[in-house]
Amino acid sequence: MHSMNLVEVLERSPLYQWVEVEMDQSASIHSFALPTFSAYCGRCKAERSFGSGGRAWGGGSVSDIVLRGKTLAAICVCLHCHHFWRGYILHFHEDGTRIMKAGQYPPWDLSIDRRLTKMLGKHEGIFKKGFICEAQGFGIGAYAYYRRIVEMIIDELLVIIESLIEGAEKDRYIQALERVKTTRQTDEKIRLVKDLLPSTLKPDGYNPLGVLHQALSEGIHQLSEGECLNRATEIRTVLVFLINQVQHQKEERKEFTEGMRKLLEKRGQAPSGGTQQA
Ligand SMILES: [Zn+2]
Repeated sequence: MHSMNLVEVLERSPLYQWVEVEMDQSASIHSFALPTFSAYCGRCKAERSFGSGGRAWGGGSVSDIVLRGKTLAAICVCLHCHHFWRGYILHFHEDGTRIMKAGQYPPWDLSIDRRLTKMLGKHEGIFKKGFICEAQGFGIGAYAYYRRIVEMIIDELLVIIESLIEGAEKDRYIQALERVKTTRQTDEKIRLVKDLLPSTLKPDGYNPLGVLHQALSEGIHQLSEGECLNRATEIRTVLVFLINQVQHQKEERKEFTEGMRKLLEKRGQAPSGGTQQA
């Protein structure tokens, strides 16, 4: 089970998963206030802060006002336009240390980033199914769908990474890519190249291919739904990061080369001091 604070629960916890939260043990339905958190506002068309303004409605026995074992509904309003609202249902465990998000409206946004769509191509539908499973807390399903995506795009992804490497590193990477072609196992492919990833693709020293390799190589047969869900979230996070970074760097490089070419052409064509006149 992962541990989150209430803001994280509201922003990104999947439905129907118990998450450990640190909360005021004496909090009652009457004193409990939801924190301010960030979410997309459909009216402002941007990420905004949302707050419940202290309003929340509790369900359960009226005589017992503690939150344990209670379900609470809250409407949170965009603090910028005060118009767009989001609804949440939170269920508090009897033990006072766990919360389950039992409802959310609007649901998680399934619109996918344009770079991701480009790379996923015809596999986009599978990615969305994985995302729906993840949002509902179906860890085994989410893991299986995301794993399938990795299997289908890994070859292309590794080739694109090659174009971002320069110098002696590039030769080592190309040699590793040759070995990649001899295996059909996705985790083995990743193992062969993971340590050759350029530093621009390793934020703060984290190696996304290393994380991906670990998430894929452990058998999930003996893992619980929750543990599979953690692995699934890791896979999705790494995939989204890698695809975005790789495509972004590719686009930046193209823009730079084209811009440079245009500048140099201009210089070549411009009669600079008349020296180039035929
Ligand atoms: Zn708004």
